[in-house]
Amino acid sequence: MRFQFSAEQLAFQQQVEEFLAANLPSQTSAKVRNGASVSKDELTEWTRILNAQGWAAPNWPVAYGGTGWNLTYRHIFDVACRKFHAPALSGFGFNMVGPAIIKYGSEAQKSEFLPKIRNADLWFCQGYSEPQAGSDLASVRTRAQRDGDDYLINGSKIWTSGAELADWIFCLVRTNSDVQQQKGISFLLFDMTSPGVTVKPLYAFNGKRLWNQVFFEDVRVPVSQRLGDEDRGWTVAKSLLGDERLMVSRVAENRRILANLRETLEHQFSRGSSALDATRKAINELDVRLQALEATSLRILTAFDGGGDIGAEPSMLKLKGSELVQAQDEVLFTMIDYLALPLDTATGGAAVTPDWAEYIASGRYHHRGFTIAGGSSEVQHNIIAKQVLGL
Ligand SMILES: Cc1cc2nc3c(=O)[nH]c(=O)nc-3n(C[C@H](O)[C@H](O)[C@H](O)COP(=O)(O)OP(=O)(O)OC[C@H]3O[C@@H](n4cnc5c(N)ncnc54)[C@H](O)[C@@H]3O)c2cc1C
Repeated sequence: MRFQFSAEQLAFQQQVEEFLAANLPSQTSAKVRNGASVSKDELTEWTRILNAQGWAAPNWPVAYGGTGWNLTYRHIFDVACRKFHAPALSGFGFNMVGPAIIKYGSEAQKSEFLPKIRNADLWFCQGYSEPQAGSDLASVRTRAQRDGDDYLINGSKIWTSGAELADWIFCLVRTNSDVQQQKGISFLLFDMTSPGVTVKPLYAFNGKRLWNQVFFEDVRVPVSQRLGDEDRGWTVAKSLLGDERLMVSRVAENRRILANLRETLEHQFSRGSSALDATRKAINELDVRLQALEATSLRILTAFDGGGDIGAEPSMLKLKGSELVQAQDEVLFTMIDYLALPLDTATGGAAVTPDWAEYIASGRYHHRGFTIAGGSSEVQHNIIAKQVLGL
């Protein structure tokens, strides 16, 4: 299959690229380029620039500040943003709870939360996983007991990314234990500064604070902060992904990493590194895999844009996209050789590596999590086996 963008789509691509060249703060893009962490302030600044342009929430309906772009346009936008090393906006607000509020929220909830999410005035984190509920999410145990016009929340969430930065949490809680698991869950939104909320850090093995465990002890949450009906939170949780489950191929991110690979190859060339031919061949093979992934992704997106029914195919995209990121990491990591060493603590933390290589090792560890986050590879294999291959 040969995929080509139309003249109109190419003009749009140019418009986005010109905007990025003129407006993306260079300090932020340099950090993203090198794989360094972007601060909350920097991400807030970029979100507000996009919001002022009307582009912060491409996946939301126009009525709530979205763009009205179809999935192909969103793909073009996404690829351009990654190409210029723009940081990804908060997925929890824009891709998860925002669309859920649009679909299930009361008018009061919509007008309270949506403008604040769009302008990065309010940051959410996601309270789904628990120590005993991950892939089997319907078995959540965090309890919400009715007490007048409030719920009292007791329990714990784990792997809560960004809880230390979040203002609010969207949370799956058990409101009924006497029914089938999926039928006794509710979906609540609440303030992380509520009395009884405790956040404890969890560190990844690259030393970063990637997650948290969040504890709830008699946390009082007004019933009015429930999204959707009581005991119907599973429906809200499932719908959270909505169209987003189609945007899981990581094509844009993979393209960005591939460009880094080629740049790194040039750096290594100038340093006189050996084994470059083998590395160049490996990079070309990754490029072919990426082109196959992008063609498959665009085929599915355009089918959806054309009103087609999409089944479990996104599971293939999630699987292949995350595997490709990790395969690219391996080539990058091998190519930089001893530059993958951590900071030299003996010299008071002075870096032994140049800027462009400093975070490659850390990124490689970070991206291991793609195998698990958003549904593990084993779970994706199960879905493909059952729903695509009919096994
Ligand atoms: C980087 C990262 C960020 C995350 N951020 C968040 C967050 O912000 N909020 C949040 O709520 N959660 C978050 N998570 C948690 C994530 O959703 C869970 O880790 C995931 O759902 C898996 O659950 P688990 O860790 O309990 O593993 P388990 O479900 O216990 O799985 C353990 C192993 O068993 C395998 N397995 C499980 N079921 C099956 C099956 N039926 N068939 C075959 N194999 C199976 C899994 O693939 C895995 O290898 C994050 C995870 C990562 C890695």
